[in-house]
Amino acid sequence: MAHILIVEDEERIASFVAKGLRAEGHRTTVAADGPAGLDHALAGDVDLVVLDIGLPGMDGFELLDQLRSQGSRIPVIVLTARDSVTDTVTALEGGADDYMPKPFRFAELNARVRLRLRQATPSTTTTNGTGDQLSAGGIELDLRTRRATVSGTEVELSAREFALAEIFLRNAGQVLSREQLLDHVWGLDFDPGSNVVDVYVGYLRRKLGSRSITTVRGMGYRFDR
Ligand code: CA
Repeated sequence: MAHILIVEDEERIASFVAKGLRAEGHRTTVAADGPAGLDHALAGDVDLVVLDIGLPGMDGFELLDQLRSQGSRIPVIVLTARDSVTDTVTALEGGADDYMPKPFRFAELNARVRLRLRQATPSTTTTNGTGDQLSAGGIELDLRTRRATVSGTEVELSAREFALAEIFLRNAGQVLSREQLLDHVWGLDFDPGSNVVDVYVGYLRRKLGSRSITTVRGMGYRFDR
């Protein structure tokens, strides 16, 4: 249960998203233009923003820019037309956490909302109290220095392996689909048909221990504490 702000000027889409999120038990607020959206987002009681790009008053890019420059780290999922890949890359560079190409099914958006909300409130313990370290199942990740240790021994992880390990630790005990892992670690830079996730899970198992990541048939992978 979270408070989700939907910034979308197309009433049909806004009410479709709001209705779906309310059915999931969330509280929703809809803003139909950029300035109102920014006000709500900065008000402090919003847990996640679903943000359209083409908006009256101030577009989604500018809203995102202002939000981040005022220090807000609320998760933002950008709604974007399927053919605006360049826009989307700009959005991700501008501090969006994820994007959702339009048109979309509610289930797809909801999966991303759930993932972002979980990451915003990690259930994994941070061992030094500053939120710089994640630890689970004998594996420790230092998010600041990008160092990883297994049972106290340092292991070398590539940037992609580290990002993959991070999402697994943040969501320990939960099944993550290949699509979620692709989205999070590879962003736009992937071919959905490729087996890159499976290959990298293989690399991680070799480095973190073969039993660290369980294959859940037909669903994805799960990191167990
Ligand atoms: Ca629009």
